[in-house]
Parts: sequence; structure tokens; C-alpha cells
Amino acid sequence: MVQTRIDFLREELNKYSYNYYVLDNPLISDFEYDKLYKELEELERQNPLLITPDSPTQRVGGISTGFQEVKHKYRLYSLDNTYSYDELRKWYEKITNEFGDNVELVCELKIDGLAIALAYKNGSFIHGATRGNGIIGEEITQNLRTIKAIPLKLFEDADVEVRGEIYMPKTSFEKLNEENLMRGEKPFANPRNAAAGSLRQLDSSITAKRDLSMFTYTPIIERAKKQPKTHWDGIQYVKELGFKVNPNIRLVNNIEGAIEYCKEWETKRFDLDYATDGVVIKVNNIAYQNELGFTSRAPKWATAFKFPPEEISTTLKDIELGIGKTGAVTPVAVLEPVNLAGSVVSRASLHNFDEIRRLDVRIGDRVLIKKAAEIIPKVIKVCDSSEHDNLPIYQIQGNCPSCGEPIREVEGEVNLYCLNPKCPAILRAKLEYWVSKEAMDIDSVGPSVIEKLYNLGLVKAPIDFYKLSVEDFLKLDLVKEKSANNMYNAIQESKKKPLSKFITALSIRNVGKETAELLVNELPTLEDFKEVNIERLAEIDGIGEKIARNIYDFFHNEHNLEMLEEFKTLGFDFSSTPTQKTDELSGKTFVLTGTLQSMTRDEASDIIKSKGGKTSSSVSKKTSFVIAGENAGSKLDKALTLGVTILNEDEFKKMAGIE
Ligand code: NAD
Repeated sequence: MVQTRIDFLREELNKYSYNYYVLDNPLISDFEYDKLYKELEELERQNPLLITPDSPTQRVGGISTGFQEVKHKYRLYSLDNTYSYDELRKWYEKITNEFGDNVELVCELKIDGLAIALAYKNGSFIHGATRGNGIIGEEITQNLRTIKAIPLKLFEDADVEVRGEIYMPKTSFEKLNEENLMRGEKPFANPRNAAAGSLRQLDSSITAKRDLSMFTYTPIIERAKKQPKTHWDGIQYVKELGFKVNPNIRLVNNIEGAIEYCKEWETKRFDLDYATDGVVIKVNNIAYQNELGFTSRAPKWATAFKFPPEEISTTLKDIELGIGKTGAVTPVAVLEPVNLAGSVVSRASLHNFDEIRRLDVRIGDRVLIKKAAEIIPKVIKVCDSSEHDNLPIYQIQGNCPSCGEPIREVEGEVNLYCLNPKCPAILRAKLEYWVSKEAMDIDSVGPSVIEKLYNLGLVKAPIDFYKLSVEDFLKLDLVKEKSANNMYNAIQESKKKPLSKFITALSIRNVGKETAELLVNELPTLEDFKEVNIERLAEIDGIGEKIARNIYDFFHNEHNLEMLEEFKTLGFDFSSTPTQKTDELSGKTFVLTGTLQSMTRDEASDIIKSKGGKTSSSVSKKTSFVIAGENAGSKLDKALTLGVTILNEDEFKKMAGIE
């Protein structure tokens, strides 16, 4: 019985490991893998006679094919891991039992990339290899030479070996996937796979084109001016030698300090431009490390706390159709509820019908879903299963679930649309969008108020908001005088919002916040929008033919023109809202990186745009300035490489004339 379960677990884990390490194509989430692994570990602990050397618990990681194998000079171990703070405390207790209370620990973010070892002789990079199975890795020196964060020459003539993690920034990963999709190639499942795939290119010129970086986290100093006695000092030293180390490392006095660090980064990690899946906690004192030693696969002086999973698999029960503000039909996955990153998830986005076809998602499939802070979970792949082939291929349903009109294709668009202008779902979505932060930002009027106003027939289109009286709000259940006044005032106040917000709020197809801002920079009054022709619109930087046509059509539709007139009579005045161009920002392109102290990146971006500047998500030679906040990542590196001027937060504020 136990033997059967053990055999089953080994077979499953081997299959998953092969897909993860060799094919860079994980079939299940890390959380699910770790659960099976822990079960096998526990069964083997209870039945030590059943342990075999080929059990997945007896080895570190995996090894892929295609490169020359090399034996590591020093073995690369794996890490024990846990998802529980209590287990962390138990781990620490064993250490303090040996060395007394308050053993110092170093906390580091666990970068979700690929472990590598780099060797330097007389200060020069001589070779580098992947971790492989910890004893034998793959020699990938040529490819590693293309990564700018890897120094080819150190600042000191030293003999060292360092370990670190190669990673691909999230923004570069998204860009690479977009390009892959455009070429009809398969996208990578996550930044880790993208980094692994890029590093294992037999042609190093391909690796060179990929945006890879590295954080160094373990120094082994063979011959150098210093021989640090603590891990912390070792990290400071490798920084002096020229390696890139993660800036978020922290020295703490005990395990409670480490737990505090884990809690802090559980949410803060989403602001980083690289993926992290946990925190690595290491005993600081190297003499203690040596005394503690290793198990067959991991150091006893270090452990990893893994963040709650962002990915998990579940069953797809149905696909419902959601109707957006422009009538675009978005398929929504209805799921068997699962706990993911601390909340129960029962719905996830499927983007559009192309995505359903690409993933070949069928109702009844087991699917992998992913969630990254605030973002709605999305279905990222279909899990490998024998049942999939027997399930019927998903057919697009023909009618709008709200108004019953047929859904149609629109030339040049990936989405399908409900084209009925009176469709209740579209009207409601437009109302909700009107009050949203991105549009008119009337936060006291939320979706439930809108639903009630709509059901009572008081509001059918955004313009109706401005015809409401305080008494109208009092007609709604549970609304007291104070909040009725608040809602009324917030709506009236919104008439003073800038034209770009109003244009955004109109829900013109393909015209979101960014596009509206570009437009208003060139067309500062509402009259300009009515007068402009398609050719002039298409000349505006960032506005293509399709968008130009949509805008032109909107402002030449009789019904819309009547509505705009009505907005005017209700007190909207867009006759002169020119952007305050300041010479210093006007026409310049800015890239924001890291965390700013006095404002969010979105707020900084709004300031730039309001003063006639532009923002971009990636650094290039055309970038005028990079604004670097705390923990700035690869964009800062790139700016340094390209010689782009870097501003700190204060310099930016001075330039923008604030403060
Ligand atoms: P691991 O990823 O849990 O931890 C060890 C690794 O952490 C090191 O090799 C290193 O690459 C990395 N690391 C990142 N930052 C570090 C730092 N600051 N200090 C030290 N190390 C740092 O262990 P592993 O052996 O590489 O992989 C096993 C894990 O891989 C499993 O726990 C599982 O989550 C995942 N896995 C998943 C599947 C799947 O199908 N989803 C299959 C196999 C393995």
C-alpha cells in the first residue's frame, strides 16, 4: 500500500520535474508539486527502508540536454522550503538549541530564476555553468558572457566562485511573449521559463538579444584581499568586486525579524520588476554554517519561506460571456472554487476567443490559473490530461447573454462584439467605467449604487448622472442624507475634470486613458475634436488609422454630438483646457523605475503628461530621462549602459516645478 503510493508519487514527480527542468514547460503549479514532494518525503521518513537513490527526494533539481556537462568544483545544493511560519520557527529552534538565542539571520528575496555558478581566476571570468543536478551542470560560458550584470573582469585580482540567479525582468518577459505570439510561436509560461529558454540557446547571439540579468547571492572566496566571516559581509564584498546583488537583503537578529521581512515582501514583491517566489533565510555566521553542514540535498543553515501560491490548477466548469463598455465580448472562466494567494477564486479571465483557441480550453478541462496582486486571475494553460481529447472543442455561443442580439465579428478586431447600443450590459458597463478612477474618478458612486440607479430608471447613460438631485439618491435603499449629498457633490465636481479624463470616459472603442492623453496634447478643446479630420488624427504620434477612424466616427455621429451639447448645457466647459507645457518636460520621454516616496508611478506619469511629456515602459536611446526610485531594477542598468540621464525623485519634482 505505502509502496504503491510511493511509486505513484515518484513517477508523478519525475514526470513533472522532466517537464519543468528539461522542457521548461511546467505542467502543474510549484505549490502542487511541493505538496506531492512533501508527501513523498514524509512517507520516506516513516519508511526509511523504502528510500532508493533514484527517488526525487535524493537529488537536486534536474538537468537538461544540449550542452557540454561539467562537474561543479563545489556542489550546488537545493533549499528546504516551507509555506508556514511555524515551521520556520521550528527550524530556528534547532539552530538556537545549538548556538544559543539570537543567532543572526540574513533575509534575501528568493528570485524565481535559474541558479548558476560563475568562476573567476585572477579577477577574470573563466567559466559558468547551470546548476543541473548540483554535481554536474551545463557549461554555458558563452551565453553568460552576453549578460551585462555578469562582470567579465572584477575590480580586484581575486579567485572566486559565485552563485546567483539569472532572471528576466517581468516587463521584458511580457514583451518577449507578445513578440512570440505575433510570430505565431508559443509564449513562455512565466519569466523563469523565459530566462531558462533564453540561457539554453545554442546560439549565444539569441541569448544576447534577450534581456537577462543576475543577482549574486553566494560568494566562495578562494583568494582575495578579504575573507569575510559572515554571509552579510560576503555579500557586501562581492558588491565591491563588481557583482550585482539584490538591494533588498536584510540582516535580522532572530527568526521573528525574518518573519517580519517575509510578511513585508509577501505584498511588496508585486512592485518589483522581477519574479520572486519566497524568501531565503540564511544563518549569518559562516563558522556556524560550517558546523551545521548539509543534508543530502540542502544546507541545514538555510531555508526558504515560499509565498502563498500565485498559480494553482482547478476544473473549468463553464465559460460565460461578459460584455464590456464597448460591446466587446470577453469570455470568463467559471471555475471549481480554489484558494489562491489568500482568496477563493471561482472566476478567471480568458481574454478573448483567440486565447481560447490558442490554449484549446474545453469545458471540463483542468486548467492552471495565475494571480498576481490586484490583477484578476487568468487561465494560463490547460493541464496535461487524458480526458482533454474526449471533451468537445469549445464553440462560440452566438448571442449576447444580456440582450440576446447576435454577437458579431468586427473587421480588424480580435474581439467579437454585441453591437446593440441599447444592450443593458453595455449601458451598465459604460456607467461603471464613467465613474472609475481611470475616467471621471467619482469614487463615492460605486457599482451597487449604479445598479440601483439603473434599475430605478434614473440613470441610463452617463449624462443622466448630472441630472440627478440629492432627493434622487435618497430614493435608493440605505442611502442617508450625508452620503446622498456626497454623491451629488462628487458628480457635480467631476465637471471640472480635465478634457483627457472626459475623452477617456466616453468609452470610444480603442481609446483608453493613454490614447486620450495623447489626443488632448494635440487637440486641447472639445471643438478641436469635432473639427479634426482623419488624416490629421492619424498623424498624431501613437494614433493609428483604426483609432483615428473610431474617433472621427464618434465625433460625427449625430446622437453623440447632441449628447456633447447637452453636457455643455449641464455645465461642462472644455473650451480652453490647454496642457501646462513646461519647457523642461514638454516633448521629452520619461521612463519610471523603482518606488517613489511622495507619489505613485501613475501619479508621476500623470504629472509628466499634464506638462506635455510622454512616458514609456522601456528604456531606449530615445528616452530623455529615467526617473529612478528606490529598488530601481534593470531599467536603471539599461539607462546607465545607454548613457540616459537619470533623475532621482527630488530632481524630477524640481524639474516639474512641484515643491
Ligand atoms: P528551490 O527553487 O525551491 O530553491 C533553491 C533555489 O533557489 C536555488 O537553486 C536558487 O536557484 C534559488 N534561489 C533564489 N534566490 C536565492 C537566494 N537568495 N539564495 C539562495 N538560493 C536562491 O529548489 P530547486 O531545487 O531549484 O527546485 C525545486 C522547486 O522547483 C520545487 O520546490 C518546486 O517549487 C519547483 N518545481 C516545480 C515543478 C513543477 O512542475 N511546477 C517541477 C519541479 C520543481
